Amino acid sequence: MVLANAKVYTCDEDVTSANAVVIEDGAITFVGDMQSWDNAAELPVYDLGGRTVIPGLIDSHTHPSMVTQSFWHVRLPWTTDVDEILHFIRDYAAAHPPDEVPFLYFEYYPSATFADNPPTKELLDTAVSDRPCLCQDFSEHEHWVNSKMLELMEITRDTPDPVPGLEMFVRDETGAPTGLLREMVHLHFMDKLYEKIGWTPPQELTPERVGRFFRFMTEHGVTALFEALVEDDEILQAIAELDRRGALNMYYEGALRFRNSEDLPAVIEVLERYRTAYASKHVNVNTLKLFLDGTNEVGNSAVLAPMCNHASADHHGDIGMATDELTRCFLMCNAAGVDVHIHVVGDRGFRVACDAVEAARNDLAARGGDWTIQVTLAHCELIDPADMHRPAELGIIVNWTTHWSGGYFGEAAKKHLGDDRWDRMYRFNEIARSGALLTFSSDVVTSYELHRSNPLFGMQVAATRVDPEYPLPSGEYPGSVRPQADAKLSCEMLLAGYTINGAKQMRLADQIGSLEVGKVANLCVLSADLFEVAPSTLSEIKFDAVVFEGRVVAGSL
Ligand SMILES: [Zn+2]
Repeated sequence: MVLANAKVYTCDEDVTSANAVVIEDGAITFVGDMQSWDNAAELPVYDLGGRTVIPGLIDSHTHPSMVTQSFWHVRLPWTTDVDEILHFIRDYAAAHPPDEVPFLYFEYYPSATFADNPPTKELLDTAVSDRPCLCQDFSEHEHWVNSKMLELMEITRDTPDPVPGLEMFVRDETGAPTGLLREMVHLHFMDKLYEKIGWTPPQELTPERVGRFFRFMTEHGVTALFEALVEDDEILQAIAELDRRGALNMYYEGALRFRNSEDLPAVIEVLERYRTAYASKHVNVNTLKLFLDGTNEVGNSAVLAPMCNHASADHHGDIGMATDELTRCFLMCNAAGVDVHIHVVGDRGFRVACDAVEAARNDLAARGGDWTIQVTLAHCELIDPADMHRPAELGIIVNWTTHWSGGYFGEAAKKHLGDDRWDRMYRFNEIARSGALLTFSSDVVTSYELHRSNPLFGMQVAATRVDPEYPLPSGEYPGSVRPQADAKLSCEMLLAGYTINGAKQMRLADQIGSLEVGKVANLCVLSADLFEVAPSTLSEIKFDAVVFEGRVVAGSL
């Protein structure tokens, strides 16, 4: 087919603009000026009426498995009004009797809801008492449950806390649990609860459930994605089945997790087994995932200067591995030809990762070996200005979750990092300007936030530093713009990061990521030009049509 009268952004440096794309047998055979195309084969011509065409988008770090496993959770209205929350729960329970929903799981209530007045089981009992009920706090560090849930988990004043001080039940002066839970303490007792109610949550990764996630991504222009954590091959089986049915419509790569240099060889073996079993045209398993530190909001990221307000004045957060061990891991991965994707949040974590890549490369060079693997650092929320140039020099890819660029996590990190460091979070212009590859992602982990994985929503937040759903208080932050305003990302950078750069991270740039002759015809037709609309309205642009391998898989032309 011929897509004519279009405004084409190719993401190809050689041909940057065009008004026509020709697709034959799923591949692009022409990009350029319609005037110079001779439609001798009489291909069907679609007049796009001046609409915008971009390459199919690439989400370079997301979590299909986790989102799928949370589809049965129920979304609470976003409010700190406790009566409104209880009202919603009461109505939901009434509309869904116990034989239909034996266990009610609600997410989330804002962390500020019960700031001075911790919630109790009795309060939740007023909304639902005929079955277990759990409400999850937005930070996921706290849960509020009813009496029935405590009863079915057999929690009494005599039950010891699994991890005292961390994973525990908040108790009254008599030692009785109040209904407030710290961290995921309930997970130690859920088997007991499920056995008693004779039910388990629908969490198997069936092709139908997984397909719901992929359908959403397809409808929002995503034609390739990287799953940043694959627990086992259940998800790979589901994806292989979707692909067999022609319902995947996606290039997919999954990453397995390793924890240290000791478990790494065994994980590489599993990866090689999965690769043999599942690798196909659309599916790849070629990357390992490592968590190097925690999060800035909890205060367990690895930072260069000490954490503020910590019991020890010399607390630099937590790091999973020292430079030496990480260097050894890189060398093992390089020997096995396996790429590495690292969760790193604090500036010390970032430096250690850079140091280890540098040491591994130097070590190899001294022995005449070749560094062939790709290392991607994901999140990189706080980077020391002195390290901004290092990804470019070391060939490290930096991945950023665009929809976090505003106020999604509120000011929770401020008490650990202090004002200066908080203001310096989420800066990526320096990284890109120094020549490093910047890729973008949604990193959604629950169905609650699935709608935020629309790449145009992420682009909007990164382009404005304003989160329309979770705005920072405008009194303190004029226009709810997150500091610093000069860290807003340009549309050019965002589009490149969501297309050609993402393809490079997934090692698919020879096939996808730009509209070039010879490449696979993955593209999106947009209702408006993303370079011309106000950045604050980017998420209002619609995906009129999404084309995957030359077929329209969402919308219509
Ligand atoms: Zn993630």
